[in-house]
Order: sequence, then C-alpha cells, then structure tokens
Amino acid sequence: MNLRCSYCQTMFALSRETMLIALEQMEAEGLHHYDAHCPKCRRANSMSRDRLEKASPGWREALIEMQKQAAKAEKEQVAAVEEKPAKASAKPVAAKAKSPAKIEAAKKPAAATKASPASKTEKPSPKGKKPATGTKSK
Ligand SMILES: [Zn+2]
Repeated sequence: MNLRCSYCQTMFALSRETMLIALEQMEAEGLHHYDAHCPKCRRANSMSRDRLEKASPGWREALIEMQKQAAKAEKEQVAAVEEKPAKASAKPVAAKAKSPAKIEAAKKPAAATKASPASKTEKPSPKGKKPATGTKSK
C-alpha cells in the first residue's frame, strides 16, 4: 500500500510482507497502531491497525502460512547443524601431514650439539697431548 509521510509529504510504499510483519507484531504485543518509518526523513508515521488490516486482506491466513514456512526453515537449519560433526573427521589427516616436519625438527638439534662449544673443549685434550710429546722428541 502507498503512504504519504505526514512530515515531509514523501510518498512511499509498504510491501505486503512489511504489513504482515507489522500485523503480526501488533497481534503479539496487543498494539493498535504501527509506526511506518519514512524512507526520506525516517520519522514514524503512525498507522491504525484497522487501516493495515483493510489494506491486506487475508493477512491472518498469510501469517499462518509465513509461520509454517519459518518453522520449516528452522527445522532445516537444525538438520544442517547436526550434519556438521561428520565433517570433523578430516582433522586426523591434517595431523599425519605434520609428522615429516617433526622428523626434520628432530635432526636440527642433533647437528646443533656437534657444533656446541662443549664438544670442542673436550676434543683438544687428548689431541693436545700428542703435540706435547712431539716437541719433547725434537
Ligand atoms: Zn518523511
């Protein structure tokens, strides 16, 4: 339905869906009018429930149909959530791919101990005796 904003005189349309949602809200909250917000000045234009009901014939049946579809969509969403844990089985494959990296990491510390200063100080002591004897023989 078409409305004229009472503040800035802008004409704007309310879709049937908007009107149904408005009627649903009024029914649920026991309201007698709906605030249609102007798209230009965003001010609320109060509309009587009676006017909305007359502008959307068969709204009660349409609302019941909307609620049925919403319940269906909710059930489908729940089913989609329940299917998700099955997809988690892909995780052990990722853990296997990590094992070659662990072997490489294990090799690196071994090479580091060879170059460590502790091993260098140990080696010269047996070798150092030989040159010492050599100098004595000369
Ligand atoms: Zn306006």
